[in-house]
Order: sequence, then structure tokens, then C-alpha cells
Amino acid sequence: PRTVFSGIQPTGIPHLGNYLGALSNWVHLQETARSEDTFIYSVVGLHAITVSQDPTKLRRDRLDALTSLLAIGIDPKRSILFFQEDVQEHTELAWILGCLAPIGRLNRMTAYKATSPEASSDERLGLFAYPVLQAADILAYKATHVPVGEDQRQHLELTRDLATPSISNVPPKYSPFPKTPQVPPTKRILSLRDPSQKMSKSSPHVNSRILLTDTSSDIMLKIRKAITDSNFGITYDPINRPGISNLLRILHACRAPMRSHDTALEESEASTRLDDELHGATMASFKEAVADAVSARIGPIREEFARLRADEGYVRQVAREGANKAKDIASRTVREVKERIGLGQL
Ligand code: ATP
Repeated sequence: PRTVFSGIQPTGIPHLGNYLGALSNWVHLQETARSEDTFIYSVVGLHAITVSQDPTKLRRDRLDALTSLLAIGIDPKRSILFFQEDVQEHTELAWILGCLAPIGRLNRMTAYKATSPEASSDERLGLFAYPVLQAADILAYKATHVPVGEDQRQHLELTRDLATPSISNVPPKYSPFPKTPQVPPTKRILSLRDPSQKMSKSSPHVNSRILLTDTSSDIMLKIRKAITDSNFGITYDPINRPGISNLLRILHACRAPMRSHDTALEESEASTRLDDELHGATMASFKEAVADAVSARIGPIREEFARLRADEGYVRQVAREGANKAKDIASRTVREVKERIGLGQL
């Protein structure tokens, strides 16, 4: 049986990069479930506080994140949906793993370096230890599948290593997921304002990302303003034409039926079809095609989000029930781990 675990930070409404890179896979996995599979999806507030947060905004963002997961089609009858901070076992296991994780290894994490380019003694321990908490999230459920975006690859490698017998064997009797992820990650979706960066919830440029709640006119405006280049024609060339290539990737992914393998544009026959369609297209007509495809894909999500937002009681109830189910599993793992390392109940 598969145990699928993944998380998203409550740092704003999820964007198209989150959706195409990770969340759409969550739904896909749930849809292709066998009865013995377990799906566990978390809104990871403890990760969000590794950078400064405004408490009022964080409360709102937590609710919005969970609402977004319901809006994209995560079904609480089939999947466990919960707030990470409601299940204390995550922090307990993170401490235990932190006692095993080599500092040199954490120092090499590129996501951390991107958030905090100049390490100084004012650096916060939590930000540095972010991947250890992520490892605890995953290992608490002995996950076999971890659908995340490509930016998380290093963190998954650390998780895997921390669980192997040569380092810790925590949790015991668990075979970590294989080196090559079973859910191929989507190439990252890039910022519309700066294609050298990934699309991110925390970028100060609101036009750099398309939110799952954006209207068709928001989407059109943001795509029209997207940075491209002045070369002739529309061609896929990620190295020399990152802006155009990003839009092509978005177009392809938004049109593809929801499947986990559909998002790699390169080498696919869809890419040849796109070439034909866009042959001789102007930048304006190309951007219009991209905006239409994005609107068609996320329009239904926006509507469902609005409907659910009017029913906060329901969303909170989903979170409460999810936390109870998650705790049942995580507490069993932590008990086993503590027993093994000599901290079990005397
Ligand atoms: P923040 O900006 O607050 O750091 P984020 O937008 O980078 O957040 P997370 O909440 O950290 O997103 O990640 C949720 C999931 O989305 C992860 O699996 C991550 O790999 C994926 N993801 C994030 N950004 C992108 C992107 N630009 N392209 C593809 N996948 C992405």
C-alpha cells in the first residue's frame, strides 16, 4: 500500500507553480487510489514561522491554504487534511532527527541559501533546521510517496538519508521511498517578473505569480506583463529564452488533462503540436492563448474557493478531524522511535 504525504506552507493563496508543481499531483494520486492507500496532506504552519509572520495574517493564510486544498479537489473522505501545528509529534520527531542531522549537510541546502543568502550569526535556528522538520513530517507517517516540486529534491534526499539504518534507522522497520521520486516532479514554474527565480508566494512582486483565486482579467494582465524577450518567434529554449519557455510550459501543463506525467514539455509529442499552433504567432496572441488556458484551468478552483470560504465552520471541522487521524498514525511512530532510542516509557 502507498502512504502519500505532502505539505504546503500557509504563506498566502497557492499559486500556479504550487498547483502545477505539486498540488495537482496530490489530486491525481488521490483519484488513482487503491482502497488500502493512505493520503496525508498538511498545511505546515511550523515551517511558515521560520521567517517572520504577522499573527493575524498567518491565521487567515492557514485557513486559506486549507480552503485551497479543498477547492482543488482534495476530498476529506479519502485524504487526511490537517494543520501540522495541531499534531505535536512533528516537533518531537524533528528534535530527535535534529540530534542526528549533520550541520554540514544542512549548510549545503540551496533553498535555505536562497532565503538567507548571507549566513550570519543572527541567522535563525528554525530556518536552518527547516529540512529536519520536513523530514519529521514525512517520516512520522512512514511515507512511501512524497509529491513535491523539484525545488524540494535536496530536502527529500536528506529525509531519505536520515531514515537509513547507517544514520538512524528512524523510524524503525521502514524502507524510505526510492531515490528517484515515483511522482516525477514538474520542472519549476518561474516568476513572471524574473524568470531566473521560481514563482513563489513570498516574492514582493504580486505580478510575479498567478494565484488560484485570480480572475480571468487578473490572469490576462499578469501574463501580458510577463517578462519575455524580443527575439523572433515563439520557441522553447529554457536556457536562452527562460521567460517564453516558462509560458510555454504553463500553456502545455494547463491544457494537459490532469495526470502526474503530463507536465514535461520536452520530448513530448504535445510539444510538436504546440510548435505547429504557435508557428508565426505574435507575442500578443501567444500570451492570450496562455492566459486563456490558465483561466480555463483555475476558474473552477476560484469558484469553489469562494463557495468554501463562506463556510469556514466546515473547513475547521475538516482540520479537526484530520488532525485526530494524523495524530493516531504519528503518535504510533514516535512511540516506536522513542522506545528504540531508549526514551520509551519506563
Ligand atoms: P514560499 O514562497 O512561501 O516559500 P512556495 O510558494 O515556494 O512558498 P511552498 O508552500 O514552500 O511554496 O511549497 C508547496 C509545494 O509547491 C512544494 O511541493 C513545492 O515544491 C512546490 N512549489 C513551490 N514553488 C514552485 C514552483 N515555482 N514551481 C513548481 N513547484 C513549486
